[in-house]
Amino acid sequence: MSATIQMPRIMKIGGGAINDLPDVLNQLALHRPLIVTDEFIVSQEYVGDLIDLLREQGFALQIFSDCVPDPTTDSVAAALVALKQFDADCLVALGGGSSIDTAKAASVLAVHSGRMRDYKAPNNINNGLPVIAIPTTAGTGSEATSVAVIVDTETQEKMMCKGLGLLPVAALVDFELTMTMPYRLTADTGIDSLCHALEAYVSRRANAFTDSIALAAMKTIYKMLPTVCNQLDNHNAREAMMLAATQGGIAFSNASVTLIHAMSRPIGAHFHVPHGLSNAMLLPEITAFSVAGAEYRYAQCSRVMGITDSDDDQYAADALVAALYKLNSDLSVPSPKEYGIDQNYWFGSVDLMAEQAIESGSPANNPRIPSQADIVELYHSVWN
Ligand code: NAD
Repeated sequence: MSATIQMPRIMKIGGGAINDLPDVLNQLALHRPLIVTDEFIVSQEYVGDLIDLLREQGFALQIFSDCVPDPTTDSVAAALVALKQFDADCLVALGGGSSIDTAKAASVLAVHSGRMRDYKAPNNINNGLPVIAIPTTAGTGSEATSVAVIVDTETQEKMMCKGLGLLPVAALVDFELTMTMPYRLTADTGIDSLCHALEAYVSRRANAFTDSIALAAMKTIYKMLPTVCNQLDNHNAREAMMLAATQGGIAFSNASVTLIHAMSRPIGAHFHVPHGLSNAMLLPEITAFSVAGAEYRYAQCSRVMGITDSDDDQYAADALVAALYKLNSDLSVPSPKEYGIDQNYWFGSVDLMAEQAIESGSPANNPRIPSQADIVELYHSVWN
């Protein structure tokens, strides 16, 4: 069976790529961008420079800077109003995954009727207004994925929405924009990328194309994540992490994520844990649970990441699990309990979270397919 690969039409990769925006808009024959961003990013000097650059070249533009972390149907609705008022012909998403996903969701609602929940997986959205994504975190890879994750304000469900309509037409991947990321954000978004690469590689929907990209990404991230966390101003490490994050996005978007992301989304929605951090809380335990379903693949990850060169798959896979526990410890990743989540609220929510994890469809791609009861048990075991 052939694999389907979807990627942005144009990708500009490297320091200063943000300055290519006017050229890219011209190439795509787009004239009225709505810049979708958040309060922090809009205060950065480069945003003023970008606006000047666009205006000098004759573009009309408007800025929407009310994106919130873990975008909600309400925050997307506000972006949609701005988009319609300005009569934008495209959206420039400038920020982390939250700003990019806000722009993607608003872009599909601009051309479709209905609500975002109509488009959650397994439904597909095939078109929307063009989105040009400029990531400022090295993490989600959303600039290159056909996915948007939106919290339903009414139900608090973190909905996974998929389809070609959510894939940016262009991505400007400029590591210089990530230089301002503080330690915690750098660590959490880096682990998010590592999860993307690992999950894509062990996914039941992995293919030869995604394998090569996932392996390249995980090798870089495992090597560079401690460096970038210890030296936040290290340009080489930032550049490597940014590229690997985009690669991780391409890999999982075309192979799917698995159980880590399935269980992570409900934690984010119910307890407002940042996305990368909730992935990190789960990564070692879920890997240990899943190894039995694809021991060879996990062993290959272990070898490519430089954890071991042993030919013994079981040994190599075990070494991977141990290395992931150590990584969490090195990066001070708290357990849900240490993060300060209310114990009664956590244990009172695990049944619903397990149900939502299953509904997202991602567990079906896990090498070892969990039952709902397995997921409940895993939520219990990661608590401490
Ligand atoms: P984010 O966009 O939520 O941003 C978190 C915080 O970091 C914000 O306050 C933001 O202002 C700040 N920030 C962003 N860039 C910064 C920089 N360069 N310097 C300093 N601060 C900066 O963080 P994220 O982890 O990039 O995105 C998480 C969201 O992305 C979640 O909602 C998650 O579900 C979603 N996600 C989407 C995909 C996808 O393919 N669509 C994949 C994974 C995750």
